[in-house]
Amino acid sequence: MTPEPVLEIRDLAVDYGYGASPVHALRGVSLTLHKGEVLGIAGESGCGKSTLVYAATRLLPPPGVIVGGEVRFHGDDGPVDILRMTDQELRAARWQDTAIVFQGAMNSLNPVYRVGRQLTDAIAAHRPGSSRAEREERARELLTMVGIAPERIRAFPHQLSGGMRQRVMIAMAMALEPKVLILDEPTTALDVVMQRQILEQVMELRDRLGFSVVFITHDVSLLIEVADHIAIMYAGEIVEQARASEVYRQPRHPYSHGLLHSFPPLHGPRRPLAGIPGSPPDLQALPSGCPFSPRCPEAMDVCTDVHPDLGPTAAAEPGRRVACLLHTEGRTLPASLSV
Ligand code: SF4
Repeated sequence: MTPEPVLEIRDLAVDYGYGASPVHALRGVSLTLHKGEVLGIAGESGCGKSTLVYAATRLLPPPGVIVGGEVRFHGDDGPVDILRMTDQELRAARWQDTAIVFQGAMNSLNPVYRVGRQLTDAIAAHRPGSSRAEREERARELLTMVGIAPERIRAFPHQLSGGMRQRVMIAMAMALEPKVLILDEPTTALDVVMQRQILEQVMELRDRLGFSVVFITHDVSLLIEVADHIAIMYAGEIVEQARASEVYRQPRHPYSHGLLHSFPPLHGPRRPLAGIPGSPPDLQALPSGCPFSPRCPEAMDVCTDVHPDLGPTAAAEPGRRVACLLHTEGRTLPASLSV
């Protein structure tokens, strides 16, 4: 049985700047996050993955402008479009429905306040009726939940390691038990051992509390480990979406293949790292046809004329969608590009 959706993004479009030539940073992005699922979003820097989650949570700073689409959150009272919420509704929904842990969040703690104060302030903002003792109790509980001894409630951020500061940020995001936790490159500044420990902790909390996770990273090999489904983004569009295991076993889009071969696998036999030649396109001057065509080892003549839409593969694999003409032409990724 397919789990119920908790967040549905439909045809989301974002521009940077106004006037005659805005940058079309996100074009027609559609995604569904199901209850209890971990959805990974991967792609190179500048592909639009952070723009996607900031737009979906209405946190996009100017000059970013949402120019189309809808973001339906399925709460206890039925679906609501986050993009059409009033400011008051939005304030109530933040932290409670969706909480986000930002890139470099471990440096977001206020250095002059103890971490306990920062946790209790966040709780007080959304639970104004709670007593000071209740808030402190909850703060201790949250620290314990992310593997920090509750007596560290009195510590200042500089007295904690980078990993512990990141855990405090995750504890803060968990304070109101959100239904969706968004992690935007949460562990990139940490060493791999700490990275793994924190992710294992988040997954253990997800299993226990049942929330859903959107996890953004440029490291697709990490996503293969933790995500149920993966969406691969390139130049402001989703180019492949499938179960994580399917992306790992048989990526269908040449860009997904290139990304997988740009990182060493965490398990299994070693394989040579190939990387992807060239660099992502200028979003103000996208190539005609497929945006990946100048870098694609499989590009055909038709690829510079026709823009490939995201759709089912010729092999009709359930749940898999790919934006590549190889598949609409009825071809699959050649054996030379298999993993
Ligand atoms: Fe490569 Fe053509 Fe597929 Fe684009 S549409 S990824 S250029 S084969």
